[in-house]
Amino acid sequence: MTQVEEPGVVAEHVVKDLISGFGIAVPRGATARAAEDVAAAASGLTPPLVVKAYGPGLVHKSDAGAVRLGLGSPVEAARAAAEIRAAPAGSGIAIEGYLVEEQAAPGVEVIVGAVRDPSFGPVVLVGLGGVWTEVLHDTALRLCPITEDDAREMLSELRGAALLDGLRGSPAVDRDALVKVLLAVGGPGGVAESLDFREFELNPVICTPEGAVAVDARLLRP
Ligand code: ADP
Ligand code: MG
Repeated sequence: MTQVEEPGVVAEHVVKDLISGFGIAVPRGATARAAEDVAAAASGLTPPLVVKAYGPGLVHKSDAGAVRLGLGSPVEAARAAAEIRAAPAGSGIAIEGYLVEEQAAPGVEVIVGAVRDPSFGPVVLVGLGGVWTEVLHDTALRLCPITEDDAREMLSELRGAALLDGLRGSPAVDRDALVKVLLAVGGPGGVAESLDFREFELNPVICTPEGAVAVDARLLRP
């Protein structure tokens, strides 16, 4: 697939560093400019590992074959990076480097995002993420800044809210952790009010009974 270069793409690890500063949990990770250096970069990380390439044309990384999950060791991670580089899908894209990070445990995938409305200013959004986003269009929106009550209300508005409470014997996710992410994005002094962006999206935030981790973070500058 040919990747069209989107202006203003900020590399995922840079966005993750930024949002960590707002109190949003992200996986432990490291970067390497060359595939050969991925193993050394990953030496302090606990498998399973994930490798993703980054570069100005890599906005939808999976579509470009630039995400590899379930890697059992730093050496396997380095091999996956070399495969991404060599893949036919990767041949047309400029790869600047590789992000190697710890793979979060599976959970309910939620999207948290923000857009800037030309007349009303920043708007924060939450929805069921992963495969659900495009199929269900199940999202809740609020103008920023939101309060904690707003954040809780947004979650209750989702038609699929029951997924957060655990279905068929699976345990409920840590709603408070997800509320904290929503406030970090849309609350007073949050990401949406503080950073300059055209588009901001955490997709997915993986929610489990143990917490909420943003495993993908995209920010497009104006
Ligand atoms: P993109 O959305 O650009 O295709 P992502 O970074 O979202 O790429 O990765 C694709 C999918 O891989 C995610 O939706 C998520 O399911 C999974 N994933 C990515 N990074 C991690 C991680 N660190 N831990 C667990 N799952 C991950
Ligand atoms: Mg994503």
